[in-house]
Amino acid sequence: MKITEHIKKANGKTLFSFEIIPPKKGKSIQELYNNIDPLMEFNPPFIDVTTSREEYVYVEKEGLLDRKMTRMRPGTVGICAAIKHKYDVDTVPHVLCGGFTKEETEYLLVDCHYLGIENVMALRGDAMSHQKYFEASKGGHQYAKELVAQIQNLNCGKYLHDVIEADNCADFCIGVAGYPEKHLEAPSLQSDLKRLKEKVDAGADYVVTQMFFDNNKYFQFVDAAKKAGINVPIIPGIKPLAVKRHLQLLPQVFRIDIPEPLINAVESCKNNKDVRQVGIEFAIQQSKELLAAGVPVLHYYSMGKSDNIQAIAKELF
Ligand code: FAD
Repeated sequence: MKITEHIKKANGKTLFSFEIIPPKKGKSIQELYNNIDPLMEFNPPFIDVTTSREEYVYVEKEGLLDRKMTRMRPGTVGICAAIKHKYDVDTVPHVLCGGFTKEETEYLLVDCHYLGIENVMALRGDAMSHQKYFEASKGGHQYAKELVAQIQNLNCGKYLHDVIEADNCADFCIGVAGYPEKHLEAPSLQSDLKRLKEKVDAGADYVVTQMFFDNNKYFQFVDAAKKAGINVPIIPGIKPLAVKRHLQLLPQVFRIDIPEPLINAVESCKNNKDVRQVGIEFAIQQSKELLAAGVPVLHYYSMGKSDNIQAIAKELF
C-alpha cells in the first residue's frame, strides 16, 4: 500500500515508522532482523531502507595500493523485498541520483515494480567522501527533482528512450527529502523551499524531513511549506542522540542546531550509556509534542541498534 494511503487510512492517528541501513558487505541480514523484531509490536506500516554512496577502497597489489570504487552497504532493494516478505510490511527503498545512470535507475525501478514495492524515496545523495561537492554520474541525474520526474514518467508508462509500448504502468508513491533548517548547500530556507516545491510539482507525494531537535523549526517549516503551495504530508524525521560525539558530528554533517538544554544534558553524562538514555528521554518529549500536534507519522532514524527506538516507541504507541 502507498504511504499516502496508510496516512489516509489512519484517519488522523499518528503512525510509527523507522529507517534502517543495510548491513556491511559480508555481514548477515540476521543482525538487521534482530533489530527490526522488537519494533514490529508497534505496527510500523512501512520501513525505509537507505542506499549508500559508493566509496574508494585501497587494495594492496604487488606492493602498490590499487584504488577501487565500491559500495560497502549494497542490497537495498533485496533487503526491502526480504523484509516485506518476512514481516508483511511495506518497505521504501531509497533511490539515489549519485552513483547511478538513468538506465540503472530504470532497471532498479522495474525490479521494485516486479517485487510489489509501491513506494520509493527519491534522493540526490551526498557528495562522495573525497569530493567537496556532489557530482552527478555520467548519464545520471543532478537533482532529486529529475529523479522524481523519471519515476513519474514510469508511472505513466514512459520508459527511457521511448522505444517501448507499455501496457503495465508502475504506480509508485514518491517521497522526497525536506530540510526544516535548510539543506546545507541552499543559499536560503526560502530558495530551498522553492526547490522542494519543484520536487512536489514533479510528482512527489510526501516529504520526510531531515532530523531536527527543535520542534519549532519543524512547525515553522510546515507553515512555510504550506504558504509556498506544498500540500503533501510532511513527515518529521527524528534521531535520538546516542553518543557524545553526535554533539559535533550532527551539526557538522547536517548543519542542524542542537538545543542548549540537550547539549548540557549530554555534556554532563559520564559515558555513552548515559548519553543514550538522555537521547531517549529527549526524543520521547520531542515526539510527545509532535504527536499532540497531530503529525501524520513519527519516523525514526535507527542507524543500527534499535533498543533506543524501542524504548521511545513504548512510551508513545
Ligand atoms: P535535492 O532536492 O536535489 O537538493 C540538493 C540541493 O540542491 C539543495 O540545496 C537544493 O536547494 C538544491 N537544488 C535543487 N534543485 C536545484 C536547481 N535546479 N538548481 C540549483 N540548486 C538546486 N543520502 C544517501 O546517500 N542515502 C540515503 O538513503 C539518504 N536518505 C535520506 C533520507 C532523508 C529523509 C533525508 C532528509 C536525507 C537522506 N539522504 C540520503 C541525504 C540526501 O541525499 C542529502 O541531503 C543530499 O545532499 C540532498 O538530497 P536531496 O534529495 O534533498 O537533493
